[in-house]
Amino acid sequence: MQAGASQHPPPKQVLIIEDNELNLKLLNDILEVHGYATIVTRNGAAALDLARQHHPDLILLDIQLPDIAGTEVARRLKADEQTRPIPLVAVTAFAMPGDRAMILESGCDDYVAKPINVRDFLAMVERYTNAAAPGSLDR
Ligand code: MN
Repeated sequence: MQAGASQHPPPKQVLIIEDNELNLKLLNDILEVHGYATIVTRNGAAALDLARQHHPDLILLDIQLPDIAGTEVARRLKADEQTRPIPLVAVTAFAMPGDRAMILESGCDDYVAKPINVRDFLAMVERYTNAAAPGSLDR
């Protein structure tokens, strides 16, 4: 047996933007238990800086935030070439069809409704954090 660290790639990193403490703890705990590294923030302005600083593998975005609307955070993340490639998934209680369209139009790549289904949520996280590099997608 080798003690090669190369057999243990660094954990995928997920930035969670959520102002509700219970939701934040829930998302954070689910991800940590399943081997993800997390960065958390409760406001949108900090999220933009954190995304540039850490370039996480995935961003989870609450739409109702205390400072900047989540849709505006999405627009800013997708307007910045440094953060544009990072998969961005809204996690929100908004449930109306018009809300979904608004969220996707703001630049979010996907949408998960609260309350989350843990198995579906983890499958979504895995799908986005294991996405093949651009250029290697052949179908
Ligand atoms: Mn909120």
